[in-house]
Amino acid sequence: MTQVKHVLGISGGKDSAALAIYLKDKHPDLPVEYYTCDTGKELNETYELIKNLEVYLGQSIVKLEAAKDSPEDPFDHFLQVYGGYLPSAMARWCTKKLKLDPFEQYIAGDDPVISYVGIRGDEQREGYISKRPNIQSIFPFRKNIWSEDVIRKVLSNGQIAFIKGLYEEYVADSPHLQRLIEIVEEPVSPRLTQDQKLDLLLDLDIKGFNRVVFAFLKTTDYPLSKVDHFPLVDNDEVLVRDDIFRILRDSGVGVPAYYEKREYQVEIEGEIKTGHYSRSRSGCFFCFFQQKIEWVWLYENHPELYEKAKVYEKDGYTWQQGETLEELSQPGRRQAIKREHYLRTERQRNNAQSDSLIDILGVEDAEGVGCAACFI
Ligand code: SF4
Repeated sequence: MTQVKHVLGISGGKDSAALAIYLKDKHPDLPVEYYTCDTGKELNETYELIKNLEVYLGQSIVKLEAAKDSPEDPFDHFLQVYGGYLPSAMARWCTKKLKLDPFEQYIAGDDPVISYVGIRGDEQREGYISKRPNIQSIFPFRKNIWSEDVIRKVLSNGQIAFIKGLYEEYVADSPHLQRLIEIVEEPVSPRLTQDQKLDLLLDLDIKGFNRVVFAFLKTTDYPLSKVDHFPLVDNDEVLVRDDIFRILRDSGVGVPAYYEKREYQVEIEGEIKTGHYSRSRSGCFFCFFQQKIEWVWLYENHPELYEKAKVYEKDGYTWQQGETLEELSQPGRRQAIKREHYLRTERQRNNAQSDSLIDILGVEDAEGVGCAACFI
């Protein structure tokens, strides 16, 4: 059998850290290699998290660094290469140069690679998927652990007869077999979209679906065709945000301090209100994906980092469109941002009618945006 490499990228965020702990606890036989891409501009809490994880996992996390021979930090090196042009959501050279390219170099060659991605069961994003055919992504926290390209092939109308045969062979013991076959036999169409068909199959039998996909992959060149046994096939757990915090706390690795909410005071119509703010993501301290309230959090909780972020704003380049960090840090402007944040959070709370849902909505708004390579 060809040697298959199993890798997990630790972004410094809570979800990839929790996934490392989860795989270690639930599937200790998987020979997972851990890596992290250091931009040189992470928060201290991120480096702390990586150290704690190494202790828990009992193995080193490989540090990948772009432009290793440069005397500058990776970010500063490439900022010079780009002539001082700050990255933005529209021109995200930082993700490519500092995260994706080092990853692709790390797994250079054609050996098959399984890459585990910590996207949760309560998220709607797909994450970074390498275009290289020897790299296959698996999403252990989701009901559907497979990547979109695999699902498209398995549920394509041209495969109906083959998939039906696999269900009859590998899911014969299911009490739902007849209904599963009916669903498999109905072609994807405007009446039954691929997502709907997938949900119907998974809702009846997750493990059965996984067995069928694994058998299907054996007929392809996907990396998983090279392994005899894949324990994630028997995984039917779906993990959401609260589970992630529980895993981090129970393991002793801990939740990075910047996720912990802190209080702020703001005056609204003559009354002093107490709101809560925190950082919603890992990544560089000056990341342009930050919301305004997160910049305020940075200014008030890590003023030295805020000052460093300000230094990058020159020659007309700013981290956010239409406003410099100098302008944003003015007392009146910070109050206005807090007021807007407080009122928006209250509106969401009233709509959600539950604290746990506000946690999901409030933070998901921020988490869903941006770069999976940096923030998972
Ligand atoms: S965290 Fe933000 S600034 Fe840093 S590499 Fe990722 S997208 Fe770029």
